[in-house]
Amino acid sequence: MAATPRKPAAATPRRKAGRHRGEGQWAKGHFTPLNANEQSKKDDDGLNVRTRIETIYSKAGFDSIDGADLRGRMRWWGLYTQRKPGIEGGKTAILEPEELDDRYFMLRVRIDGGRLTTGQLRIIGEISAEFARGTADITDRQNIQLHWIRIEDVPEIWRRLESVGLSTTEACGDVPRVILGSPVAGIAEDEIIDGTPAIEEIHRRVIGNPAYSNLPRKFKTAVSGSPLLDVAHEINDVAFIGVEHPEHGPGFDVWVGGGLSTNPMIGQRLGAWVPLDEVADVHEAVVSVFRDYGYRRLRTRARLKFLVADWGVEQFRQVLEDEYLRRRLVDGPAPEQPVARWRDHVGVHRQKDGRFYVGFAPRVGRVDGTLLTKIAELAEAHGSGRVRTTAEQKMLVLDVTEDRVDSLVEGLEVLDLTVRPSTFRRGTMACTGIEFCKLAIVETKARGAQLVDELEQRLPDFDEPITINLNGCPNACARIQVADIGLKGQLVLDENGEQVEGYQVHLGGALGLEAGFGRKVRGLKVTSRELPDYIERVLRRFQAERNEGERFAT
Ligand code: SF4
Repeated sequence: MAATPRKPAAATPRRKAGRHRGEGQWAKGHFTPLNANEQSKKDDDGLNVRTRIETIYSKAGFDSIDGADLRGRMRWWGLYTQRKPGIEGGKTAILEPEELDDRYFMLRVRIDGGRLTTGQLRIIGEISAEFARGTADITDRQNIQLHWIRIEDVPEIWRRLESVGLSTTEACGDVPRVILGSPVAGIAEDEIIDGTPAIEEIHRRVIGNPAYSNLPRKFKTAVSGSPLLDVAHEINDVAFIGVEHPEHGPGFDVWVGGGLSTNPMIGQRLGAWVPLDEVADVHEAVVSVFRDYGYRRLRTRARLKFLVADWGVEQFRQVLEDEYLRRRLVDGPAPEQPVARWRDHVGVHRQKDGRFYVGFAPRVGRVDGTLLTKIAELAEAHGSGRVRTTAEQKMLVLDVTEDRVDSLVEGLEVLDLTVRPSTFRRGTMACTGIEFCKLAIVETKARGAQLVDELEQRLPDFDEPITINLNGCPNACARIQVADIGLKGQLVLDENGEQVEGYQVHLGGALGLEAGFGRKVRGLKVTSRELPDYIERVLRRFQAERNEGERFAT
């Protein structure tokens, strides 16, 4: 048969980049980098940038930093350049990265399981005060982020963090990120199982391990044995959630493929039960599947959720068992629906050892270095040496004897860290936003804090649990899609037709076993100025029209 003549290249219709030409999966032999990020990761492991920071950049200053390190590999050590002050949201999409870059960094301190000693908290507070202009934000992944960091100070900051067992290793980048853990692990009276040993073993095996330092994209892990389902497991790449197996006893139900951002997906159950001492094996196997089969062509399709969605969980489990674990997993039950609506552990609660833990709510996770030091001092003065951060931007002080609880609560209230917050203080979260984030279009932290104060005044008796989450851009760092009221920052037109800061509204999202995404209310955008009025209207209407027991999400 005669060969079909090839069409001239110009006449060949352009095919969409995608699965037909291979997705850059290593397991299928596609090792050639398909985009600049993959090339950069192939050129040098992000973990190696530490030596250059210590020996060159911190000594020669900001201008000596290689571009690929500055906007890529430094993330492997928790460093992002922050947004140059004064650049409006409208410029975010049109300026080159170097025009948005400030000469200062955000530094993310990873706090696996949200577990801190008061000594560690004090060190973070001191670093904040000395090197970060006092800034500190508790994130919804239990980390603490500092800003205004100079490259010259980074080695000393690492030295101080590491002297108390903390680090910034793989706090950002295409790596296994901080491991979320129940803030009440090991202490809660109602705990199904304490996941702490699994978190420690996962950390020991994968964090800083070059075998897992070049993943297709970030990889998020959560482990909780609390019946409150307190680690947002539905939106992690892999999650281990405490369940009681009818034959084997307490262990973990495995979820894979959750994630938000522009293509949000709720994680799916593998239907497998894993005992505590096998969690790290299964975790390592899931990370390995992601590393080897994950899509590396397009960063927008690189998260594990896309692979899980294409394969389905049955195939995912099969590959996991056949190629990585080389054994069958035990089938297991799903977690039960939690009884409590809040998952943040705010308030005063008895521990299983008879002492108490006290959870309190800063506004939208914003604290500062001096405050962190005072929290550490206050906790110690009340006999506690341990604190925890939560996945809701809150904090807990552990191990307080009953006779010291009231005094601790009073001390926290004096610091404006209320243990009995309003629904609005408790339920409002905000991402970093335009103050520091280069992707942001609008302000979030200050706006969120103002909104809390405003709603407390307007609706003083409103006590229905409601979550209000503010994002500064279409990404999902503050989980807008799973909030009762999700606010996605964008520029909108005001009544005079002028472009101003505002938000696209999503209503009715939820986490928990009824997890689902909020509906984007078509055309419903509010300006920042109108925001309190709008939310007040929505909540008053909900109060007036809801049926007995009806939740906002329903
Ligand atoms: Fe930045 Fe957008 Fe994430 Fe907010 S949601 S921190 S603005 S990337």
